[in-house]
Amino acid sequence: MRVTVLGSSGAWPIPRLGCDCPQCTSGDPRDRRLRASLLLDGRVLVDAGPDAYQQLLEAGAVPDQVLLTHHHHDHVLGLHALAKLGRIPLHCTKECEQGVRVIFPRLDFRVMQVTPGVPIELGHGLRAQAFDVDHSGRTRTVAYRFTGAAGESLVYAPDLAGPPGSKLARGPDILMVGAATRERTVKDHMPMTESIASARKLKPGRTLFTHVGHRIGTHAELEAWVPDGFGVAYDGLEIELG
Ligand SMILES: [Zn+2]
Ligand SMILES: [Zn+2]
Ligand SMILES: [Zn+2]
Repeated sequence: MRVTVLGSSGAWPIPRLGCDCPQCTSGDPRDRRLRASLLLDGRVLVDAGPDAYQQLLEAGAVPDQVLLTHHHHDHVLGLHALAKLGRIPLHCTKECEQGVRVIFPRLDFRVMQVTPGVPIELGHGLRAQAFDVDHSGRTRTVAYRFTGAAGESLVYAPDLAGPPGSKLARGPDILMVGAATRERTVKDHMPMTESIASARKLKPGRTLFTHVGHRIGTHAELEAWVPDGFGVAYDGLEIELG
């Protein structure tokens, strides 16, 4: 499985317009983050935020299907720009579809309803299984466990308010979780300290933080701060698994 991190920011991109904090004025290209999104094997798009079209152009990729974790704006507003791809499959829960249809009443995709636990075949031996996670009270949110043809696995849970309870989160080669803050408690997102504690129980091969918040520190500072076995994703990062 080839994993490309198309975007690694939280709900708003970094740098923030007009902000002069160290993160926003950093000269490190890894501190330029667009909305969180993944591309698998160059063809499966996971979440389609407002930056999706540009991210795909830059990656030189044309997705043949899209999966959504939930219908918050930073994960779905890019669907409009992808609507001319020819009614490709859009995998999401029923609640997510309802939420997306409030934003885009006309949805030019072949909507495939996701049921947690039920495998979704994505072609070429790639499979996904969704599981419910705590995030935001009114917005049903899932995370995905992806398994490649050789059994390699990735768990993607960018938006989490608490530790994932599903056994599907356990023991992947790579666990990707959100990083809104280091220690500070905020609504709907657990701090990195809590994610580190919960990741240790899940025993992944490696944990990578994504969906990185503002004023959390520069990429280099975060990399130095996380313990062994943990890292921080950045836009354009590619990982070959299996
Ligand atoms: Zn988000
Ligand atoms: Zn800033
Ligand atoms: Zn969200």
